[in-house]
Amino acid sequence: MSFRFGRRSVERLSTCDERLVRVAHRALLLSPFDFSVIIGHRTRDAQMAAITSGRSKLKWPQSRHNAKPALAMDLAPWPLDWSNAMRFHVLAGVVFAAAGFEKVKLRWGGDWDGDWSAADQNFHDLPHYELVE
Ligand SMILES: [Zn+2]
Repeated sequence: MSFRFGRRSVERLSTCDERLVRVAHRALLLSPFDFSVIIGHRTRDAQMAAITSGRSKLKWPQSRHNAKPALAMDLAPWPLDWSNAMRFHVLAGVVFAAAGFEKVKLRWGGDWDGDWSAADQNFHDLPHYELVE
């Protein structure tokens, strides 16, 4: 399997902390399917829009997407299909494997407390990965 990030994924990734960049590139090498970087840094206006649409619960500048460089990135399986949660879960496994390889500690929006159970959370943010400092 060999995938390459598209131009927009590269642009978005370039707004992220170098640790996230390393994890994303490593994950792309390991992934059984292609995926995109759909958000890196999020501007104030974009953060307000994300709250309005329910994609974020955090006011500017509390989201790790608001930091510069961004301390969070959103990744989504390509082609994008929000109704297929399975691929997001598989991608999470790949991303965590990549993060382990790169010695980067992450938190995933599909499992905020890191116990590998989604039963104990009510806000699912499946594409979201952020650095644990
Ligand atoms: Zn996010």
